[in-house]
Amino acid sequence: MKIPTTLMINREDWDVVSEPTDSRWGRASYDGHEIGINSELSPRQKFTTLCHELMHLFLFEAGAEIDEKLVNTNVEGLCNAIGNQLASFLEDNCEWQEEIDTTMREYLKEKK
Ligand SMILES: [Zn+2]
Repeated sequence: MKIPTTLMINREDWDVVSEPTDSRWGRASYDGHEIGINSELSPRQKFTTLCHELMHLFLFEAGAEIDEKLVNTNVEGLCNAIGNQLASFLEDNCEWQEEIDTTMREYLKEKK
């Protein structure tokens, strides 16, 4: 599975970098708009890690993640649970994603 190098999140550009990190599988830098994924993971692990980091970003953008250090255990469990569900959902609905892609490209073309 190909991991994107850039993503649009809440109308802002984010970089996704593959890196030999410390013991972590991934990280999200809110200020730097950068998601780091451990380069030593399997393709499936990279994908679920990306989904996990996206959950952090969505919670952060929604104002639900105040300080990861204070609520780390709960947030990590929540991001794992929802991130894994999202990964499976996206994998199980690849054909639908292609339809969404086509529909969105048409919409964006009309919008210009
Ligand atoms: Zn996490």
